[in-house]
Amino acid sequence: APVSRIRNFSIIAHIDHGKSTLADRLLQQTKTISERDMKAQVLDTMDLERERGITIKLQAARMNYQGEDGEQYVLNLIDTPGHVDFSYEVSRALAACEGALLVVDASQGVEAQTLANVYLALENDLEIIPVLNKVDLPGADPERVKQEIETIVGLDCSNAIEASAKAGIGIEDILESIVETVPEPEDNTKKPLRALIFDSYYDSYRGVIVYFRVVDGTLSRRDRIRLMASGKEYEIDELGVLSPHQVEVDELHAGEVGYISASIKAVADARVGDTITLVKRKAEEPLPGYVEANPMVFCGLFPTDSDRYEDLREALEKLKLNDAALQYEPETSSAMGFGFRCGFLGLLHMEIVQERLEREYNLDLITTAPSVVYRVTTIDGEVLNIDNPCELPDPQAREKIEEPYVKVEMLTPEEFVGTLMDLCQTRRGDFKDMKYLTEGRTTLVYELPLAEVVTDFFDQMKSRSRGYASMEYQLIDYRVNHLVKLDVMINGDKVDPLAAIVHRDQAYYVGKALAEKLKELIPRHQFKIPIQAAIGSRIIASASIPALRKDVLSKCYGGDISRKKKLLKKQAKGKKRLKAIGTVDVPQEAFMAVLKLN
Ligand code: GDP
Ligand code: MG
Repeated sequence: APVSRIRNFSIIAHIDHGKSTLADRLLQQTKTISERDMKAQVLDTMDLERERGITIKLQAARMNYQGEDGEQYVLNLIDTPGHVDFSYEVSRALAACEGALLVVDASQGVEAQTLANVYLALENDLEIIPVLNKVDLPGADPERVKQEIETIVGLDCSNAIEASAKAGIGIEDILESIVETVPEPEDNTKKPLRALIFDSYYDSYRGVIVYFRVVDGTLSRRDRIRLMASGKEYEIDELGVLSPHQVEVDELHAGEVGYISASIKAVADARVGDTITLVKRKAEEPLPGYVEANPMVFCGLFPTDSDRYEDLREALEKLKLNDAALQYEPETSSAMGFGFRCGFLGLLHMEIVQERLEREYNLDLITTAPSVVYRVTTIDGEVLNIDNPCELPDPQAREKIEEPYVKVEMLTPEEFVGTLMDLCQTRRGDFKDMKYLTEGRTTLVYELPLAEVVTDFFDQMKSRSRGYASMEYQLIDYRVNHLVKLDVMINGDKVDPLAAIVHRDQAYYVGKALAEKLKELIPRHQFKIPIQAAIGSRIIASASIPALRKDVLSKCYGGDISRKKKLLKKQAKGKKRLKAIGTVDVPQEAFMAVLKLN
């Protein structure tokens, strides 16, 4: 299609405000996808979404639409991931567009995630079309929500569209508005090729499938390409568009969106944000905005059964093919044996990887508590990045420790402001700003150590606000704090994976709470088990688990058999995820105990 008939857009929405439903509607209205295929697709993604509370991406779809002016348009919908851990990916997907639909649930209003994504869209100079969704609901109040968008986001809502993705209201208006409002791509067909990679995935038959937007020039299937960040060169095996299934084409020019396969071995070789150019006519500069993946959270992964170390290595290798941000290296611990130290973009990313390892590769893992990366300056002036608390240099050897800080922005109904401020205060937060936006909407801005946010901060925020508050965070800087290493001894053995880095002022409290918590979580054994918390050689807290007196079954000797079975089952279940440390069996929950103190 000529550039003047192409529109590239994405959809920005808070979780559950209707992004997927609206995308499906647009595909259906433009006859890109049949009724039958749509049902299948919707069903496929449902379970995972519900479980994780995240939106699974549809990646990209090309729709043909006849405008009211009678012209044929090509509308490319480029999907964005729906979670803060992936905000870099979101920003690259938005950079591939000229416009965005801002979908807001008209019965709810603006949420923190909506805001964060709108800021990213504005940074990328996108034209934004506000869509008030779910107007079919009796509680919908589109006028109030428009007001809210104008006040909070500063966006003119006079042309906002009232819609219901579910009932099919306003869909034609949305399509027409995309044609009218979203700018056409610049006609840069004559320039040397530059195409922005906004997504990629690994296919075991064809290698990596790369999704891109051509920004300058033309790409044809016979071209030899070069990826400017990775420096690698490839022959194209397949060039195509997504309608929404992959359909091969001969050529794509500036403004168009498509995919290639080129026998690329891992997504790390064709990362989101990289620029594709031609070997025979290279672009001078890559497109702006490329950033290396930078893991923020690290944890140890150990197989409960040490014989499965090699299986874990293979599984991580396979996951890595499809995950450029995942990092891992072997870690050996006297307590845990052989495992891996892994780095993730954030907590959700970490949970997704753990879950896939267990579900898809059938591994039983012990995961140690997540740690952020501390920047330690030694007395020799050397700067070390420490992502494992047990590797923190001794106090005599270090000059200072800096820890990463994030800016957290919360949106909450006014009534929860007090309890949320209290939460931030106990998590070493610095108050920055508070604004009453509209009736029932307040923003609260704090700067907090990332270490305090990767614990159960999000869960706490949700439960304290009965689910009404939402939050976003972004890394701002590193700050010096008085931090100490807290060691834990079980039965006299120091257990490295239980070590934590905490603020000096909280060390006593954390040590005591942790010892008590471990006492609760570690099952009784035939012998008494002392638990101690220490800073250096100083014991600051202790507790002990009394010895088991009787066999657990003797309690119901002669009792009814079903109760006995239940008990055995309970034991067997508890047994699944235990790690023997010396003579003590330590359950998985104990390794996460430090996150759940209150
Ligand atoms: P996403 O998380 O933004 O992708 O949201 P979904 O598209 O998955 O929608 C979340 C829920 O809202 C689902 O149960 C949808 O059926 C429902 N939903 C979406 N759009 C509408 C709408 O216009 N009206 C009503 N009543 N429900 C909707
Ligand atoms: Mg969804």
